[in-house]
Amino acid sequence: MIRQIVSEARNRSKYDIGETIEDVANRTGRKPSEILKLNANENFFVPLVFLKNLLKEVMDEADFRIYPGEETTDLRESLGKYLRVPREQVMIGNGSDQLIDLISRAILRPGDDALSFTPTFSMYKRCVVVQGATYDAIPLREDFSLNAEKLLASAKPKTKLLFLCSPNNPTANQFDLGTIRHVAENFEGLVVVDEAYADFSGETAVPLLEELGNILIIRTFSKAFGVAGLRLGYAVANRDLSSAINEGFQLPYNVSTIALRVALRILEGIEVINTAIEELKAERTRLIRKLNEIDGIHAFDSVTNFVLFRAGRSSDDLHKALLERGVMVKNLGRVLDFTNCLRVTVAPSPLSERFLQALREVMG
Ligand code: PMP
Repeated sequence: MIRQIVSEARNRSKYDIGETIEDVANRTGRKPSEILKLNANENFFVPLVFLKNLLKEVMDEADFRIYPGEETTDLRESLGKYLRVPREQVMIGNGSDQLIDLISRAILRPGDDALSFTPTFSMYKRCVVVQGATYDAIPLREDFSLNAEKLLASAKPKTKLLFLCSPNNPTANQFDLGTIRHVAENFEGLVVVDEAYADFSGETAVPLLEELGNILIIRTFSKAFGVAGLRLGYAVANRDLSSAINEGFQLPYNVSTIALRVALRILEGIEVINTAIEELKAERTRLIRKLNEIDGIHAFDSVTNFVLFRAGRSSDDLHKALLERGVMVKNLGRVLDFTNCLRVTVAPSPLSERFLQALREVMG
């Protein structure tokens, strides 16, 4: 019996987080501190001392012997103010990954369908399939725009969930609100708009919540707020859906007191985050320009904290050669009809320079 359970579980899903800093350090004989981790869209613009000080304050004041209490309500209130929605509409998750899983669990039953486009964030498919539902994805156009009609035409009678990642990972572009509205207006089920990177683009589908009852927006503290290791995500939807999900499906103590309290303090110090976002945007422009100056490299535009680029030679070889130089980027291979694609996190210029230098060397 256990054998069968294990083998079924194994066949169901696998998520590969790729190599860790320690793996690369061990393999290349470097210290972990020398490894440049630019493969997971983390944010190195938010000063670590700022975050550490917040954490120290939280450590001093919180009693971790007890379960989280008012912090959850306080953070929902604070996020509600940040997004200009009532706190009843806010859900809090252990990372936005956990919210994607939660929503899939709340909505999908075996035999249901979910829909998205390709390429996009891989977690949607994983969370859908685990529910015994099917997952369909239609390709974006060559310019990474969304063919809304084709997407809507692919919906089946049991398609209950539609994932729209905007800005999209890994293409780094955003879909305009008119397109998102059109999709939601013509779809019977729930449209999940994943806005993990929206703080970098400045555009959001939040205003659509007032007009449309079938939109749920997911956000995270891992990207613009710079605390991927804290594991905190949030979502907003209409009141009924939010309370149904919060009360019926979310676990009561899903996020730690530390994460909740640090998150509250980050929102109190939001100007530090806003400054970091502005610095990042300037560096993004510079990084794209510098990448495009390298022979054989083409970088696509970005409204996020990462850049998609393609190379005139094998992305497998490039990825490996960069790793040997202690630089981690994400090897995507083929993206639509573009071969040899890679994705790199936008980092402060000394780090980006190290990456660019390594890339110039390996491009020969
Ligand atoms: N959505 C998108 C589009 C992402 O790229 C990521 C992280 N790579 C996530 C959600 C998950 O982020 P987290 O669980 O750290 O909030």
